[in-house]
Amino acid sequence: MNSPEFWTAAAAASPLLSYFLGRFNRWAGLAAGAALFAFASCMLTGEIAAGAPYAALALWTAAALTHSAVLNGGAGSAPDRSGLDKQLGRAARLEAELTLIKTMTALNAAGEKRSLAVYSAVKLLSETVEPQSAAKQLGKYLSDYFETEEVSLYMAENSPGGAGMELFSQGAKGSALPGYSELLTLAGGFPEQALAASGLVLAPVSAGGGPLGLIALRGGSQDAESAGRFAAEISFALKRVLLFRQVEWLSLTDGLTGLWRRNALDEKIREELRRAAAFKTTMGFMIADIDHFKHLNDTYGHQFGDAVLRRVAQLLKDGVYETDFVGRYGGEEFGIVLPRADSAGLLRKAETIRARIEAEVFPQGLEKVRLTVSIGIAHFPRDGRAPEEIIGRADAALYAAKEGGRNRVLDAGSL
Ligand code: GH3
Ligand code: MG
Ligand code: MG
Repeated sequence: MNSPEFWTAAAAASPLLSYFLGRFNRWAGLAAGAALFAFASCMLTGEIAAGAPYAALALWTAAALTHSAVLNGGAGSAPDRSGLDKQLGRAARLEAELTLIKTMTALNAAGEKRSLAVYSAVKLLSETVEPQSAAKQLGKYLSDYFETEEVSLYMAENSPGGAGMELFSQGAKGSALPGYSELLTLAGGFPEQALAASGLVLAPVSAGGGPLGLIALRGGSQDAESAGRFAAEISFALKRVLLFRQVEWLSLTDGLTGLWRRNALDEKIREELRRAAAFKTTMGFMIADIDHFKHLNDTYGHQFGDAVLRRVAQLLKDGVYETDFVGRYGGEEFGIVLPRADSAGLLRKAETIRARIEAEVFPQGLEKVRLTVSIGIAHFPRDGRAPEEIIGRADAALYAAKEGGRNRVLDAGSL
């Protein structure tokens, strides 16, 4: 154990100790190797004195120790992680890129869906000849575009003088949104541009001139911008629908009085009679004719006559329910359809209207002109079942009222 050979071997093996211990810790290995070499050297004092052989051993050992430390530098117990870190960094970057690509793809898909929805909506509105049936399909496109079924599109009323908006189309859950007037209250009036308020988004639709419509949906400020874009995209197509409906409306209503024209009223009579027959309810019909209107025209002029017709039309409308239909049957003759009216109530109502018109004063210059009407009434099912029968009986009653001296109501049931 104390032989110089042993310590020479130990000194020569110290790089091995440095290497293997250095696998766990590079510097501890080196220190242990160096310590072993130093200790062995102490035990080799005789050999050191011998000079050259020891010097060679010492040189070899120093070189080997250094080499062991270098070797352990690459794969030691405290491995240099920079390579791994680099790889990890690269992986993280790739993952981030992938996420970005995925997001972009999803956004693209959503964008494509939106483009398709707005394109379809514009196409639908531009081509439809039946706005009412297009409305349902439009509701689907609105939902696709805004990714919510809580969406509604209001459109300017097409009745003359109608200044408000009426619901035109909505998504499947559009009815969950507040009503039109409540929407305006929440938005602080009709919005001039797309805005978000109280968890709702409102966007006006306009194409020069007054507002054509209003888009309302459940959403936040991020949706206001896209709602504004959608509104701008559909504005001209919506204008077309509006004009279309106005033309339709004009063909059905009388320009002077705003009442239904004869053919529109005839259609209402047919429709309400079918309904009354199907549901076993009743229907009343009146024809009111201004007495001596020709004389009125001749005395005060046509302009005055026109003003009288407008006022009488208003009085007739005011005299019945909003669900009743008042039409101008021609000249100074008016027809009124009263769904579900009973015959006694019908007679009372006609009498009230007659008295109201008799009491009305029509100012003409300094003169206060008065006039009267005669009214004939008929009742379903009492006076017949077919529209022609009902109209014919009411007409006969009117004729009888004129014959009887005018300014009176005559019921076909009493003829
Ligand atoms: P009756 O009491 O028998 O009903 O007599 P009338 O003069 O009211 O009846 P008639 O049918 O002889 O005359 C209706 C008049 O209504 C003829 C026309 O001068 C007038 N009239 C019809 N349409 C209009 C209109 O749009 N504007 C005006 N101002 N007058 C009209
Ligand atoms: Mg008349
Ligand atoms: Mg007449």
